[in-house]
Amino acid sequence: QGTIVVQVRVAALGAEYILILADDRTEITRTEEIRNDFVANVSHELKTPVGAISLLAEAIDDAAEDEVAVRRFAQRMHKESGRLSALVQDIIELSRLQGADVVRRGKPVDINSVVAEAVDRNKLPAESKQIDIVVGGSVSVPVHGDRDLLMTAFRNLIDNAIRYSPEGTRVGVGLRSRDGLVQVSVTDQGVGITPEEQERIFERFYRIDAARSRQTGGTGLGLSIVKHVVSNHGGEVTVWSQPGQGSTFTVRLPEMEVAVDDDAAA
Ligand code: ADP
Repeated sequence: QGTIVVQVRVAALGAEYILILADDRTEITRTEEIRNDFVANVSHELKTPVGAISLLAEAIDDAAEDEVAVRRFAQRMHKESGRLSALVQDIIELSRLQGADVVRRGKPVDINSVVAEAVDRNKLPAESKQIDIVVGGSVSVPVHGDRDLLMTAFRNLIDNAIRYSPEGTRVGVGLRSRDGLVQVSVTDQGVGITPEEQERIFERFYRIDAARSRQTGGTGLGLSIVKHVVSNHGGEVTVWSQPGQGSTFTVRLPEMEVAVDDDAAA
């Protein structure tokens, strides 16, 4: 597929050559399609908060005399602009990831401290839902890569665990080193994800319940960013879930190889 095979008889040499032209047009078309879809989705997603902000500005103008209404519209406007800025932030993050050769330019990253900071940054939303975040275990070897990107990935997973869980539940974050891999799992006692949905949640802008996701401030890009960050680091992210019981997202990253100094060893 995508390959043209041409048989060429070169009479002068009395031999027959088979010329294989690898036609990567199909690949280019596919990439283009994905990009076009993404642009269409971005335009659509941006239109919603921008449209709402514009309508709310008009409403404030019309309701100038009614102080209570003005305040209510202003609060909604604040919420919509928050959504807009989260969306722009995620889009920038995703486009930054497209061409990033993070591993080549990377540095040793201590995943214990990245996870601790990601947990810390999710403290407020967790507290507001009386959710306990419990961290267990640790890893012994660093990962080679980009600390900020890895932080974003773990923050997104913990943020989702809180967002899609009821009040008063628990989020567990487990770390361990195993078979040359650094493994981080985020477990919640939330709504869970059906097997069919599990196949789609890593797609850009895919949300199981768009209204609920928007309500809770989701952009639909979080898991897609996680997947990109993890694969850029040569790792993988998997999900295990039982609808109604909870979910576990597991990230596995290759441990940084320790350079062996031959002279010193000898
Ligand atoms: P969003 O911004 O909507 O959260 P994500 O890409 O982070 O976008 O997630 C995609 C969808 O996957 C979410 O809309 C939600 O339906 C589902 N999802 C993600 N994490 C969880 C979780 N921990 N528990 C249940 N559903 C989840």
